[in-house]
Amino acid sequence: MVKPKTEEEIELLRENAILVSKTLAEVGRHVAPGVTTKALNDIAEQFIRDHGAIPSFLGYEGFPAALCMSVNDVVVHGFPSDKVLKEGDVVSVDCGTLYKGYQGDSAYTFPVGEVDAETRKLLDATKASLYKGIEAAVAGNRTGDIGHAVQSYVEPLGFSVVRELEGHGLGREMHEQPGVPNYGRRGKGTVLLAGMVICIEPMINAGGKSVYLERNGWGVRTCDHKKSAHYELTVVVRRGQAEQLSTFDFIEKDPTINF
Ligand code: MG
Ligand code: MG
Repeated sequence: MVKPKTEEEIELLRENAILVSKTLAEVGRHVAPGVTTKALNDIAEQFIRDHGAIPSFLGYEGFPAALCMSVNDVVVHGFPSDKVLKEGDVVSVDCGTLYKGYQGDSAYTFPVGEVDAETRKLLDATKASLYKGIEAAVAGNRTGDIGHAVQSYVEPLGFSVVRELEGHGLGREMHEQPGVPNYGRRGKGTVLLAGMVICIEPMINAGGKSVYLERNGWGVRTCDHKKSAHYELTVVVRRGQAEQLSTFDFIEKDPTINF
């Protein structure tokens, strides 16, 4: 049984969500050809700590960094490294915070310089599928309605949904129930109750859906080595319409950020 959050808890989750949203924008300001993912990670870690929070990914089950930085065919959970971003790459930036005992968790995939038309389409479709999922995150629906909304949006465009990873509840823990798959059938899965806080995070591949785990035990990569995209927002399930806690506005309303 998944318990909805109280409004007091939701306010603490909102503070985290806004900090994560601002951190993603701070990273976005520095994404450019020639920059390393390690440099971006360090900017984010400093930004999070400057705001009195802790980067919650650092040390989580042994994860070695503040951010997951997943370039091109890495779907999620990439380690920041000395790898230099180059024109035409995409980098998924996934960020978590721990502040006042609660978690923040959101992700954005940035283009590096100019990307080709197919990549642009992948980014746009993945983000649009996230909003389709959010539209389905209303009280009385089930997690399968969210998954169905994501899947039925991206598959007709020729893209595929990663099956091995999913969204999740968020609270004091980074991964709470319910799991929120990005594929599924309407009317199946956990019933969504008003006040549940969930992260919806489609991971969408340009090619086939198959992925494999890198030898470091973390990085998830597409088997066909085509690009993958990943966007994540935190929402509160409400009656009629979900309420977004995190937002991409800090990225998309900043004219200096390439998104
Ligand atoms: Mg995340
Ligand atoms: Mg997440």
